[in-house]
Amino acid sequence: MKTYPAGEETHINSIKLKTMDHLINNISILKKNLIILVVCAISFSLNAQEKADLTKSETIDYSAWKADEVQKNKKIDSLLSLMTLEEKIGQLNLPGSGDIVTGQAKSSNIAKMIEQGLVGGLFNIKSVQKIKEVQKIAVEKSRLKIPLLFGMDVIHGYETTFPIPLALSCSWDMKLIERSAQIAANEASADGINWTFSPMVDISRDPRWGRIAEGGGEDPYLGSKIAEAMVKGYQGDDLSKSNTILSCVKHFALYGAAEGGRDYNTVDMSRIKMYNDYFPPYKAAIDAGAGSVMVSFNEIDGIPATGNKWLLTDVLRNQWGFNGFVVTDYTGINEMIAHGMGDLQDVSALAINAGVEMDMVGEGFLSTLKKSVDEGRVSLEQIDNAVRLILNAKYDLGLFENPYKYCDANRQKTEIFNKQNRAEARKTATQSMVLMKNENQVLPLKKSGTIALIGPLADAGDNMPGTWSVATDFSKATSLLKGLNETVGKEVKILFAKGSVLEYNETLEQTVYGRRKNFKRDGRTKEELWQEAVAVANKSDVIVLAIGEASEMSGEGSSRANINIPQAQKDLLFELKKTGKPIVLVLFTGRPLVLNEEKETADAILNVWFSGSEAGYAISDILFGDVNPSGKLTTTFPRSVGQIPIYYSHKNTGRPVSEEGTENCKYEEYRSAYMDECNTPLYPFGFGLSYTTFKYGTINISSNKMTSNSTIVVAVDISNTGNYDGQEVVQLYTRDLVGSVTRPVKELKGFQKIFLKKGETKTVTFEISANDLKFYNSELKYVSEPGKFEVFVGGDSTTDKKVSFELVK
Ligand code: BGC
Repeated sequence: MKTYPAGEETHINSIKLKTMDHLINNISILKKNLIILVVCAISFSLNAQEKADLTKSETIDYSAWKADEVQKNKKIDSLLSLMTLEEKIGQLNLPGSGDIVTGQAKSSNIAKMIEQGLVGGLFNIKSVQKIKEVQKIAVEKSRLKIPLLFGMDVIHGYETTFPIPLALSCSWDMKLIERSAQIAANEASADGINWTFSPMVDISRDPRWGRIAEGGGEDPYLGSKIAEAMVKGYQGDDLSKSNTILSCVKHFALYGAAEGGRDYNTVDMSRIKMYNDYFPPYKAAIDAGAGSVMVSFNEIDGIPATGNKWLLTDVLRNQWGFNGFVVTDYTGINEMIAHGMGDLQDVSALAINAGVEMDMVGEGFLSTLKKSVDEGRVSLEQIDNAVRLILNAKYDLGLFENPYKYCDANRQKTEIFNKQNRAEARKTATQSMVLMKNENQVLPLKKSGTIALIGPLADAGDNMPGTWSVATDFSKATSLLKGLNETVGKEVKILFAKGSVLEYNETLEQTVYGRRKNFKRDGRTKEELWQEAVAVANKSDVIVLAIGEASEMSGEGSSRANINIPQAQKDLLFELKKTGKPIVLVLFTGRPLVLNEEKETADAILNVWFSGSEAGYAISDILFGDVNPSGKLTTTFPRSVGQIPIYYSHKNTGRPVSEEGTENCKYEEYRSAYMDECNTPLYPFGFGLSYTTFKYGTINISSNKMTSNSTIVVAVDISNTGNYDGQEVVQLYTRDLVGSVTRPVKELKGFQKIFLKKGETKTVTFEISANDLKFYNSELKYVSEPGKFEVFVGGDSTTDKKVSFELVK
């Protein structure tokens, strides 16, 4: 029988129910008992003098504590000197919001803990009103009046929901991504939140892993640019402004490389791969100033990340110079018991000694650290260091000076889900969609005639926001049906039919794929559903088929072994094919899928991912050509699950398949190949079509020699040769032909998204220096090595247009 460490059950349930209400209700019941126990344990462990200290109120005036760097250390030191050990440990404690409901916050168990100084922050409470009420307890009732941090998973927007991060990355537009984070920060801070658990920058090359939806794809270079843009968007240039919030880069580290793509599973990776392929985006976020880091659930080199001193101290602090604070993931400390690292006291000591500052939900720190200090297993200095980092963050946010600075009810009324933000989200969604097929230019659609809108995801507004839409009001998200009706409904006749269930297996559909609040299985037989759909199709000029994953099929805990569109929906596609009408497949997904049959059957495929609250409008903008699609994939789409992990920047091996064999998918004996499958993907990294076409000219290079301090310029003419104005993501890759360690066949080193009018030509230039060619060698030194390089420029990672140069000493 599986037993769960304290708090784990709560967590497991909570991730199944991803809406705010569900999160709160669910946690509250299970947590109540745990909290009561902890509160009792803590108060029983105090001696009389300490109890007296805790009740004695200190007259400390924070009102002049402006968030300036000069005074910071002195002020924080003075506060630390007043704190009891319990109060210090309290600052390291981050419970879930549990049973806090407006109007009764004062009497909740968490409130009692806050009063006693046993809480450093709370997360996933929504609304200024609730947050203000809780902050009031901390700053009026607790002895030292230290304000609380209020965190939330603001992952891709707040109430105005942007496309899921994987989709956002396909825009390759860093300004747009930064802006989406800025709007998210603005809305969240207008609702009381001052800390977000984002960006999630875990590189993943395994689409079975459901959380691939939350990251920026498979590439460390692109991932690093995105990490930087997100941190800048959330934190701005001044964290103490009331519309910027503290970011938390996660999940440190390697969480996206779980074996078999199964969430929370073991990770086993060479250090050279960590440094070259998986660490860069975390480091980029740190370099951009991310104020906090969340540790991942997985193990690294046999030690869970939460207790891994090499990772959290040697790499993060000593090598990268991180000076913010580290928080665990949800019950991450407690889960080390199941990993086999000892009991709660052992794992809590392990975590703090490794470099963790804050304990999310599990209360291992709260219930054991004092004992560990008494027994000499954890030093007071270690605790002081941790507390200092958390107080620093509160100081930087300006919370001491004004604990209610994020609680402005006027801002709440006007700055959340407003017209401007929704317009930005709609625009961003159009930039994230990827056109994967467009036979005979079936798209864009004409704004006339009749359209059959078919599919179980066509009229599913609450399915649009996608995973981790904690603050979203699902009822306000626009379905495709609504979007079409409101945008082109006057010019185009739209006939709707559901066509199929999501999934034939009822249990799977209802309990796994359909966990949204109002989800109800359609009781009709598949034949009845088809009949209705075919009738509608027969009356129309074109079929728009909305199928794919339901939003619960990706995200946390949503790993899949078969990454197909469920058979019920595929069968619908095959039935509709028989009508002979052109089919535009609008694909909803949180991950790369295996789409061989769909690619053969549909005339066009538009991958819309989960595009957020404005999805329906944005999809319509693309379908009818008001916006020309320009998104490009940031993860490779495999032909079959057996090819996973599959990514463009692989190594060559000693026995690569020949170029001809690769191109023609020809099996070659005793070569690195599959007997029954090609090596190439179905859709490569960087791929995406437009309604227009682009032609790449010859690549010009300013010199074929580069020194360690010179740069070379690579220039290419790109022409818009089609019939529409459009945007192209021009990509530059290099290959290091000889190295002291084996090097990938291609590495992305630059990209530019350009706009070209119909018939226009532009010269795109890239500058490359020796610094861009650096990598970690076998001693983990970051070096560039002299030798020959190739430079490729093109519209996706398969481009073979290239020139060469040599890096000389
Ligand atoms: C997830 C984190 C998230 C945390 C708090 C965990 O289950 O792994 O990404 O930030 O919960 O909601």
